[in-house]
This record gives sequence, structure tokens and C-alpha cells, in this order.
Amino acid sequence: MKNLVLTSALLLAPVATAAAGQTATIQPVVAATMPAPVVPLSSDPGTADTAPKSTPKAAPRQTPPKQTSSTKLVEPHLRVARSEIKGHARVALTFDACMGKADERILSVLVSERIPATIFVTARWLKHNPQALQVMLANPDLFELENHGQNHIPAVDKPVSIYGIASAGSPEAVRLEVQGGADAMLAAGIPAPRWFRGSTAKYDLSSIAQIRAMGYRIAGYSVNGDGGSLLGAAITEKRISSAKDGDVVISHINQPTHAAGEGVAKAILDLKAKGTEFVRLQDVEDRGDDDTTE
Ligand SMILES: [Zn+2]
Repeated sequence: MKNLVLTSALLLAPVATAAAGQTATIQPVVAATMPAPVVPLSSDPGTADTAPKSTPKAAPRQTPPKQTSSTKLVEPHLRVARSEIKGHARVALTFDACMGKADERILSVLVSERIPATIFVTARWLKHNPQALQVMLANPDLFELENHGQNHIPAVDKPVSIYGIASAGSPEAVRLEVQGGADAMLAAGIPAPRWFRGSTAKYDLSSIAQIRAMGYRIAGYSVNGDGGSLLGAAITEKRISSAKDGDVVISHINQPTHAAGEGVAKAILDLKAKGTEFVRLQDVEDRGDDDTTE
């Protein structure tokens, strides 16, 4: 019921609920009269990454973000080559480490179960999580580390607001966000990244072309696992454990206080029990739309 309360509340009253977990003011009667949510939450809202749980700020929105009419934003899909073997679905787990902390519930399962995954890190997250980084670097057979930018600013080269956070706003600012993320990774002893995923996972077509010209493939996804880490544990587990052959799952590994992470950890075990083959982006053929990989 708690999860239903939260997710229904996010749909009903996004402004009032603000950060995830603010369920105290929600009346159960509201949830009881609401159907299950059908509108998917964002894959990587800035609010989930930037606002501490106890500091309500801008809420994730179900209404279209404010943007200029000339700026078309895309949220590209990405899939990996299928195994085509029944009972042996191939799935790429990708995690964003936007800022904040490391979610040990997820990290420990990946390590103990020897599950390979691709982690998108920002310079900000790296700075504050040296221990988690050491765990990842100590398991190079498991963790592929890729670029999530310097300051977790949406890589859109025109000034728009996405989930309440301002985009980079110019080609130069996009370049700084991408290059700054890569520079911080190299300084931290991480191999040079080949993939980029921007904050909010949204871009405009010119920023995609620019980032591609910098030498990166751009990592979309095909399954939004945790709704920007704002979903409850049960629905997160269900979404991720339902991944099919060739899916690329996005979820977050930087929100240890959110219920979603519990669902992520359980879903990893569910998928393993089903015989899933876990792959990293660097290990397989991938195909993204919006000219992100071709
Ligand atoms: Zn992020």
C-alpha cells in the first residue's frame, strides 16, 4: 500500500509530494480510489539526484517541461544484441551515479553475485564516493565505468528547463559537461570512457551530434527501472525483473535512502534466478535510436 500511495500521489499531486518518501501527508483514501499509475516516471530527473529526501524542492512533473518551441528534446532508446536463446535473456544493467552516495544494497549484490554492470558516474559523485569507486575498480571484470558528466547538467545546447533543472544551454557548456566528466574519471584512475549519458537522459539532436563528434556513443535505455529512483520497491522490482532479451535497464545506484534501491537489488536476484545473461555495454553490439550509436 505504501508504494501505491507514493506512486499515485506523484501522479495526483506532484507539487505537494516533492521528494520521494514524503508520504506522511498523503491520505490513504486518495490512493485507495486511484488506479495503478500508468504514466511512467522520468528515467533520471534532476530532482531525484539533487534534492535530499528531507528538502522538498521542485517536484518531478507529469506535465511537459517548459521549453522553447524550437527545441525538440529526445530521450533515445538503446538495446543490446539479443541472445536469441530461450530461457537465456541477455540484459544490460546500467546504473546512474548522479551525485549523493553509493547504494550498498545494490553494489553488494552485484559484487557478491558477480553480476556485470555499466555504471555512469559524474565528477561530483566520484569526489564523494572514493570507497565505492575502489570497490568498482577492484572488480574490473564486473564494472564498466562510463561518463555521466561533470555537474549533472542536462546536455542540451539550448536553454531549457527539464524536471526543473536548467540545461547546459550552449554547445560550449555541453562540451564542458562532457569533457569535465571524462577528465574527472581519468584523474580518478578510471579508463577513458566511451559512452556518455547526460543528466535526465534527454538531449536535443544537435547536442547528440556534438557529443558523438567528441567520440562518444550515447547511452539511452529500453527499460526505465526505477523512475529516477522515485518508485517504490515492489514496482521497481517488477519493472526490472520483467526485462526481456536485449533490454537495457536504467536505474540508480546513488540513492541509498530510497525504497527503489531495495527493489533493484531484489530484481537482480530475480533475473539471475531466471538464467539471465548480464552484459555490459562494452561487451556486446548495441543499437540506439536518434543517431546515438550508428
Ligand atoms: Zn543522473
